[in-house]
Amino acid sequence: MTQKKTVQVALPVPSEEFFLYSVPKRFSDGIEIGKRVFVPFGKTRKAIGYAVGFGDGKKVDFELKEIIDILDESPLFDEKRLEFFRWISDYYMAPLGMVLKFAHPLGLGKTVRKTVRATSGGNARAPREDGVEKKILQALSLEGETTAEKLMELVGEASLETVNSLQRRGLVEFDYRVVSDEKVKHEKVYSADCGADAVSEIKKSKPAKGAILEFVLRSGPASHSLMREIFGNFAAHVKWLLENGLVSVDLVEIGRDPYGDIKADEKPPEELTQDQRAALGRILPFVEKGEFRPFLLHGVTGSGKTEVYIRAVGEVIGKGKQAVVLVPEISLTPLLVRRFRSRFRDAVSVVHSGLSEGERFDVWRKSRRGELGVVIGARSAVFAPLFNLGLVVVDEEHDASYKQDEAPSYNARDAAVVLAKTHSCPVIMGSATPSLESYSNAVKSKYEYLSLPARVGRSMLPEVELVDMKNVTEKVFSPPLKDALLESFADGRQSILFVNRRGFSNFLLCEGCGELFRCPNCSVTLTFHKKDDSIKCHCCGVSQEFENRCLRCGGRYAGRGFGTQSVERAAKKLLPDARVRVMDRDYAGGKTKLLDLYSRLESGEVDVLVGTQMVAKGHDIPGVALVGVLCSDHMLALPDFRSGERTFQLLTQVAGRTGRGKMPGRVVLQTYNPAHPSVRFAVTHNASGFLEEELGLRESLGQPPFTRFVSLRANGAEEKKTKAFAERMKLTAERFLRGIPPGSLRVLGPSEAPLYRIKNRFRWQMVLASENIGLLRNYAAALRDSLKKRSEGIKIVVDAAVFLDEPLDGSPGVVLV
Ligand code: ADP
Ligand code: ZN
Repeated sequence: MTQKKTVQVALPVPSEEFFLYSVPKRFSDGIEIGKRVFVPFGKTRKAIGYAVGFGDGKKVDFELKEIIDILDESPLFDEKRLEFFRWISDYYMAPLGMVLKFAHPLGLGKTVRKTVRATSGGNARAPREDGVEKKILQALSLEGETTAEKLMELVGEASLETVNSLQRRGLVEFDYRVVSDEKVKHEKVYSADCGADAVSEIKKSKPAKGAILEFVLRSGPASHSLMREIFGNFAAHVKWLLENGLVSVDLVEIGRDPYGDIKADEKPPEELTQDQRAALGRILPFVEKGEFRPFLLHGVTGSGKTEVYIRAVGEVIGKGKQAVVLVPEISLTPLLVRRFRSRFRDAVSVVHSGLSEGERFDVWRKSRRGELGVVIGARSAVFAPLFNLGLVVVDEEHDASYKQDEAPSYNARDAAVVLAKTHSCPVIMGSATPSLESYSNAVKSKYEYLSLPARVGRSMLPEVELVDMKNVTEKVFSPPLKDALLESFADGRQSILFVNRRGFSNFLLCEGCGELFRCPNCSVTLTFHKKDDSIKCHCCGVSQEFENRCLRCGGRYAGRGFGTQSVERAAKKLLPDARVRVMDRDYAGGKTKLLDLYSRLESGEVDVLVGTQMVAKGHDIPGVALVGVLCSDHMLALPDFRSGERTFQLLTQVAGRTGRGKMPGRVVLQTYNPAHPSVRFAVTHNASGFLEEELGLRESLGQPPFTRFVSLRANGAEEKKTKAFAERMKLTAERFLRGIPPGSLRVLGPSEAPLYRIKNRFRWQMVLASENIGLLRNYAAALRDSLKKRSEGIKIVVDAAVFLDEPLDGSPGVVLV
C-alpha cells in the first residue's frame, strides 16, 4: 500500500529532484500524483510544486513541513506522462520541477495569489498617513483582503514597493490564497419556446419583436453576438420576449479557437498511391496494437506525406485515441491545420506558445473531456495534455526550430520519440531532407525507414539550373534567371524568388579592408534597410544611421548579397506589369495577413513572390513555374558543423515549391560555390546521396551523430571576468578528466560564442564531446555543479541538445561571418 503520509514535491528551483513534505490528515484523500500543491519553502517563502510520488515511510531525522493546500481537483499528469517528464529532466539536465512548470503553463484552473490586508495597526494609522500610503490603507479598509494586482487597480499610484514598505512597518500583512484562474468564456444563446403561429400573431402588433422571434425560431439557437450583428440593439425586445416566455436563454461556453474561421473544404484524395499504401501498411498495425515504433518517412516534397499522417491520425481517432502532430513553423500552421480541419473538424486543436491563457485552458479541458482528437502545434505541443495518446507525428523532422535554446533546452523531435515510447504508440518523423541524426538511426535500423520516392500524380520534380555567380556581372538577377522570370510571366505563371534574409543587403563589407559592419552590442553583422537608410541588428534590435565610410580604413562599404526589398525593386523593374509581393517576417505580422497572402497566391493574384525562409516551407501552389534562389552561399558561412546540412535542406525545400501542378517546374540556383556537396546534391534532388556523403564526413571528423556534444556556456556582464571564468572552466574540466578513462571525452574550447555579445552580456562556450552519452552527461552535470559553486554572478547554461550556431527564435537575420 502506498504511504500517503509524506509526499514528494518537485519545485521549480534549480536543485534536487524533489522535496519531502508531510500530508496533514485532511488532505490524505485528496493528495495524488500529478496534482499541484502549495508548500512552504525555505524560511519565509511559499511555492507551488507538483506531487511526483509518495514517501517510502522511512523516518527522516528532521521534522517535515506540511503542505498548505492542494490546488487541483484532478491530476495534471499521470504516471506515464511523469515518466516522460522525468526523461526530459534527466536527458536535458533540467530540474524536474522546472520541466513540469514549463509543461504546465498558467491557465489551468487554479493558482495562488498573494493577498494584502490592513493590520489593526494599519487601520488605526490610516487617517494619520498621507499620500499613497493613506490611499492604500483606506482602500484596504473598504475592500478587506485583496490581491496585490487589485490593489494597484484601486490605487493608481501604488507600487509593489510602497506595499512592501507598509508591510515592513507592520501596517499591512500578506497572505496567500488559492484562487480560481479559470477563464471560461460564456455567451448567451437564445432559443424559441413557441410555434410559428405565435410568431405571426406577434408580428401583427409588434413587428420588430416578431422579426426577432421568427429569426430565432427558424435558425435554431442563436448566439447573442450574431443577433446583435443582425438586429443592432435588440436588448429591449429580447427582454420582452423572455418575460413573456416566448424565448429562453442559455449560457454556453465558447471555445476560443484562433483558427476557428479557417475555411475547411478540402476534399480527400480518393485513392492512395502505392507508396502511401505501403507506408501506411507498416504504420497502422502499430497504431492498432498500441505498440511503440519509430518511423522515418522520407518523401520528396509533394510525395503525399501529409496524406499519410492524416490517414494514420484518422485511424487513431477512430479508436477513440489522440494524436499529436508537431510542425516547425507556427506562422505556417494554418495550411496544415486547414487540411486536418477538413477531415476531423472540431477534433482538431492548435496549440502554440502564442496562445492566451484562456485558449490554453480550453484545449486542456477539451482533452479532459475526451473531445480532443488531434493537437497540432510547434515544439511545445510535445507537452500537450493528451492522456490517451495513440500516435505522434513530427513533420519536417529536420527543422532547427524543434530545438529550444532556453532551459529546458530540449529537442522536440527527440522528445517526441520518447513520448511515443512512454505511451506505447508509433511515431512518424517525416521529411524530404531527413536530419543526419534520424538518417543514421534508420541506417542502424533503430528507426524503420519508409520512402515515398516520387511526387503524387504526374507532377515531376523540377529541373535545377546552376549559375556560377563568379562569372556573372549582374548584381541581382543573372541572365538565366532574368530570362526565366520573363518567360514565366509571359506564360501567365507564378514565380518565387528566395532571398536568405530581409533588408536591402545582407551585411556590409568594406571593400578596402574587408571589415564587416557589426552590432556594437552583439557582434553580429548588421542589416541595411533601404527604407529609412538605417542599419539594424536583427539580434538585439539596435538601429543606427548608415555611415558610408569604413571606420577603420575610410574605404567604401559595399552591399554583399541582398534582401527582400532590393529583390522586390529589381523584380518590379524587370516586370513592370507584374504583381510582386513580399513575404518575410517584417510582413508576416499577423496570422490573418499571412493567410490572406496565401490565398492570393493560390488564386493567382500574385505573379512574383519574394521571400525569406518562410517561402521555403509549407506551400503547395500548383501555379508556381519558377523558383529563383538568389544567393545560396550565406548559410554555408555559418560557423557550425551543421551549416552544410542546413543549406542542403533549405535548397531542397525551396526547389520543392515548384512544379506542384501538372506542368513541370524550373529552378534557377545562383551560387558562388557550385561544387559544394550541399549545392551539388540539391541540383539532382539526391537526398540519400547527400546524407551518405555528409555522414562519412561527420564520422571522419568525429562530429554528431557519431560523437555527442554538450555545450557549457558562460555569460557575464563584465568582459574580463567572464573570460577569466571561461579559462577557469577549462582548468576545472581538465582536472575532471583525470577521473575518467583517457580518450573517452574531449574538451573543446573555450571560445567566444558565435554570438559573443548579446544584450551587453559576454558569452563563452566550451564543448564537451564523447561517444558515451551517459558519461558525457554525468561529467557535464558534475562540472556544472562544481563551477556553480564559484560562479560569482556568471551564468552557466548547459545545453545537451547542442547547436553551435544557436539559432535565435524569431531572428532569421542573424548571419555570422
Ligand atoms: P507532402 O506532405 O509530401 O509535401 P502532400 O501530402 O501535401 O505531400 O501531397 C501533395 C499534394 O498531393 C497535395 O495537394 C495532396 O492533396 C495531393 N495528394 C496526396 N496524396 C494524394 C493521392 N493519393 N492522390 C491524389 N492526390 C494526392
Ligand atoms: Zn545587436
